[in-house]
Amino acid sequence: SSLRKHRNTYAKISKKAIEHNLKNEQARLGADCELFAVVKANGYGHGAVEIAKVARDAGVTGFCVALLDEALELRQAGITEPILILGIVDVANIPIIAAEKLSVTVGSLEWIKEAKLKTKNHNNRLRIHLALDTGMGRIGFRTVLELTEAENTVTASKLFEFEGVFTHFATADEADETRFNKQLEKFNELINSLNNKPRFIHVANSATALWHLKIPTNIVRYGIAMYGLNPSGNALKSPVSLEPAMELISELIQVKKIQPGDTISYGATYEATGCEWVGTIPIGYADGWRRSLQGQTVLVDGQRCEIIGRVCMDQCMIRLPKEYSVGTNVVLVGKSGTDQVTMEELAEHLDTINYEIICGITLRVPRIYV
Ligand code: PLP
Repeated sequence: SSLRKHRNTYAKISKKAIEHNLKNEQARLGADCELFAVVKANGYGHGAVEIAKVARDAGVTGFCVALLDEALELRQAGITEPILILGIVDVANIPIIAAEKLSVTVGSLEWIKEAKLKTKNHNNRLRIHLALDTGMGRIGFRTVLELTEAENTVTASKLFEFEGVFTHFATADEADETRFNKQLEKFNELINSLNNKPRFIHVANSATALWHLKIPTNIVRYGIAMYGLNPSGNALKSPVSLEPAMELISELIQVKKIQPGDTISYGATYEATGCEWVGTIPIGYADGWRRSLQGQTVLVDGQRCEIIGRVCMDQCMIRLPKEYSVGTNVVLVGKSGTDQVTMEELAEHLDTINYEIICGITLRVPRIYV
């Protein structure tokens, strides 16, 4: 159908899975804690606007994105709830940010000073969340001295509303809690130095929400687990059931029998040892189906079929157990019969994390919502 952008490869996104994952997390949270859906990077590849709408219907009260453009995309789609931009924005964009009632992350005194210097009066105060670098080493204030000056400067100016303060943990997905506790200690020290506590004080990404629920936070910034994936990969067991929202589906576009000695794909890295059935599927590295997935298996009719030869830009080949007709369904990620290929399995094959796989599915793969 036209919904499929005329392609026979697509990412199937389950709204029910997103709802399921959000409801389960909501049930664990205290009444004073809000659930924000993290929909940066096009909703981790799932489609930012679509996921935001599903999440809103499931009861989330706000959103997090990384970039101003991502926030504006949500506003343009009619999302009126609070949106926190987790990255650092250019002060030149403050008027539109304030007008759109977006909240921004601020991580340095220089930013605040530059914002004051360059921003003319505007009607809406800029909502600010001060980032605290308690050990992530990425963005944010690192000392009480810096934070105090930042707080004083922000609260003294009519330009700003001091709406929140937050940190981000580097090791919340690890069994060893030593570093996590060190960060928490630093966070408490910084928080205790504030003269005024803002409305939102928050620390929890998915991993923190799943495995460190006792730590006070009044926003959970729920990303990967909303999409049904475990933030630790396979390292820690999730205390709630996570249902993966994305499946990746294609079909056979050509099927042939090859002879011993025949080779497959660029570089002829695969050579048939016997007579073999080979199917071609229309997905390749330009879809985020990475070149090094050679050797990974996909599911045809519930059976594991190996990707043979190099993955091309738009196509790759698999070895079939027998002849299958063109048009036969191929499950690249997801369930078929009693078997399932998971994002974690791909991540392991590619020596990366599930996050990178889902974010890497490129825009030319249609997203079909079911
Ligand atoms: N909070 C911050 C500051 C982040 O950068 C991210 C994403 O990396 C998240 C929350 C969401 O993380 P996760 O997807 O692990 O829940």
